[in-house]
Amino acid sequence: MSKAIRFSRTGGPEVLELVDVDVGAPGPGEATVRHEAIGVNFIDIYFRTGLYPQALPSGLGQEGAGTVEAVGEGVTHVKVGDRVAYAARPNGAYAQARNVPAGILVVLPDNIGFETAAAAMLQGMTVQYLLHRTAHLKPGDTVLWHAAAGGVGLIACQWAKVLGVNLIGTVSSEEKAALAIEHGAAHVINYKRENFAEKVRELTNGEGVSVVYDSIGKDTFTGSLDCLKPLGLMVSFGNASGPVPAFAPSELQSRGSLFLTRPTLVHYVARREDLEATARSLFGVIASGEVKVAINQRYRLQDAGHAHTDLESRKTTGSSILLPH
Ligand code: NDP
Repeated sequence: MSKAIRFSRTGGPEVLELVDVDVGAPGPGEATVRHEAIGVNFIDIYFRTGLYPQALPSGLGQEGAGTVEAVGEGVTHVKVGDRVAYAARPNGAYAQARNVPAGILVVLPDNIGFETAAAAMLQGMTVQYLLHRTAHLKPGDTVLWHAAAGGVGLIACQWAKVLGVNLIGTVSSEEKAALAIEHGAAHVINYKRENFAEKVRELTNGEGVSVVYDSIGKDTFTGSLDCLKPLGLMVSFGNASGPVPAFAPSELQSRGSLFLTRPTLVHYVARREDLEATARSLFGVIASGEVKVAINQRYRLQDAGHAHTDLESRKTTGSSILLPH
């Protein structure tokens, strides 16, 4: 048996219920993972509210770290007792234990703890592919990264610095600004107080940036396009303020033949070799100390709703995890 968070209707944090579930034996190709820590991510809120559709009732959560307790038929790359972590699909990580397709599991190096893995697999692998694969950045390039003091954001500030990329971050408070700078952002803009597109022009001598990483969506999309230099790349990778409204492709042309992509982690780690390479790259920068994972909020599993309230009301900084025991 396992305690798990389930929801049977979409809505606010109150729809999340703690229930007892029978985990059962793992099926062919599956492994049972007993979690030591569980990642909380903004995508969990999209599923809970119904922005991302999900058959109900359902579990929630896409990221966890723990120990393999059992393996099903045909599973070869993990064994009972292995320390493992996973991110990105299927929902159901908010649980003490669960069965997952073994193909999504990565064995943890000894120097990566469970809490760090649960906090960083999803957010850190996202930063990895966004910086290394979605865009082709060179040292000296300048990018704009929204929500720079969030979970994804604080990892991005540090990793961009490692690559010699100047990251201009946006944040909503002075406390968050200080945190982003402390983690390596070259400049920070408080987008509640300042017009971020005007400020980006000022900081780049009117030129604009090569890439904008926009996870805010509705509230920032048009302003983000205004920050790009000709042939620049708009990376729209989230909707924290709501989905981006429909727009005409001519908006890209009039601003200088811009490029637009709407990527998601699951496609970048769909092939086993990409998952392993992306995770290895992440574990490498964590082990070297170049990227420190800021776990700034810890909650008990039964307090998942509280974790959601804090995340969606912009109270959190860095990463949040749930502790199942
Ligand atoms: P964060 O810790 O970054 O939290 C979201 C932040 O967004 C808030 O702290 C807040 O920062 C900012 N924000 C701006 N407007 C709003 C709003 N209206 N409501 C709530 N927050 C707002 O979350 P994560 O690190 O988990 O995720 C960051 C983003 O990256 C999310 O949009 C997520 O969906 C996306 N993502 C996309 C992936 C992909 O592959 N496409 C994978 C992983 C994450 P501030 O107060 O400073 O404005």
